[in-house]
Amino acid sequence: MVVYLSLGSNLGDRDNYLAQAREALSAEFAWARFSKVYETEPVDLRDQPWFLNQVVELKTDGTPETLLEWAQQLEKRLGRQRDIPKGPRTLDVDILIFNDEVRDEGELTIPHPRLTQRRHVLVPLCELVPDLVLPHAGYSVKKALAEVKDRSQVKLYE
Ligand code: ADP
Ligand code: MG
Repeated sequence: MVVYLSLGSNLGDRDNYLAQAREALSAEFAWARFSKVYETEPVDLRDQPWFLNQVVELKTDGTPETLLEWAQQLEKRLGRQRDIPKGPRTLDVDILIFNDEVRDEGELTIPHPRLTQRRHVLVPLCELVPDLVLPHAGYSVKKALAEVKDRSQVKLYE
């Protein structure tokens, strides 16, 4: 299964949290490819620090549930707390796409419900796979980015 995850951090040493996440992902999955890192303006709850965001492509034989569980353990290990919904976080790992899976019931929504509405997700995803057709939408990542209404800033992070 080919999977795309989004990584985000806007609390504490953001660079270091992403570096630790990359290290853990590379150790756990035989094959992982990372986008560049972007510095992005917060969208949902705007009065909080800017994020670092990155997308990873990986291959797994597992299920979405086992992957989310693993990702949430990683978040926890890196000090993630869930006191303010949409608030600052040391590390957030979301499942963007899981092969051609489409599901909108239960705990997990796949593809991620805000995938096509967020520049901070579409920009790094488009860097990796511009021509990938989104299984729930039927059009490409490139087209989703060209049409997204979100105007929040997404800058390449050096
Ligand atoms: P945020 O929406 O800010 O990422 P959390 O990381 O706390 O908030 O996630 C809230 C819940 O969203 C999780 O408990 C998880 O079960 C659920 N969820 C539903 N779909 C997904 C998905 N595609 N990827 C990650 N989490 C998801
Ligand atoms: Mg999350």
